[in-house]
Amino acid sequence: MTRYYILFGPPGAGKGTQAQAMVERYNLHHISTGALLRKEIAAGSELGLKAKELIEKGNLVPDEVVEGMIENEFRTVKGVDGFLLDGFPRTIEQAKALDNLLAKTGESVTATVSIMIPDEMIVERIQGRALKEGRADDADINVINNRIATYHRQTEPLIDFYRSCGKYTEVDGTGSIDEVREGIFKVMD
Ligand code: ADP
Repeated sequence: MTRYYILFGPPGAGKGTQAQAMVERYNLHHISTGALLRKEIAAGSELGLKAKELIEKGNLVPDEVVEGMIENEFRTVKGVDGFLLDGFPRTIEQAKALDNLLAKTGESVTATVSIMIPDEMIVERIQGRALKEGRADDADINVINNRIATYHRQTEPLIDFYRSCGKYTEVDGTGSIDEVREGIFKVMD
């Protein structure tokens, strides 16, 4: 049976870094909605143009947009044991849409793994990443702060959503990359 894991956590928690180790160990396909959106922006597509404006202010793009992307990946990617969702769902509506989508084929979310770091560390990590990756949404402290606020307001409620169905696990994200990876492997195993 195909497994569906959600990698959860605030921006800058290290989801992208840890996802790489997870997909190898568990033969998963990594779906990062942020990366998919940045690809659309780079390609200059109509969707990319709309997404760019929202992302560069630190706001979310509309639910339907990311839901469509996820559905497309599920449909087209074959030959893996499961999927690792990174950056999705980010709202309760998206979580419900995911449940409905999986229910069509009698499937459901397997588990969520949440990487937790405090807000001060979010700012520090994102500012460090800005120097290396050059993302526009990492460069401006006002945008970073809005992303943190967006996370608390729209995404954090998902913790209770998944906790209430027994699918929530949490890992301390404040350690080194290796330490966090070991923490994740422990809960996944
Ligand atoms: P981070 O890890 O810093 O949160 P991402 O690369 O996951 O960054 O996402 C970058 C931006 O893309 C988000 O700030 C948001 O504007 C948009 N985005 C990504 N995933 C979603 C989603 N599931 N729903 C709405 N917007 C999203």
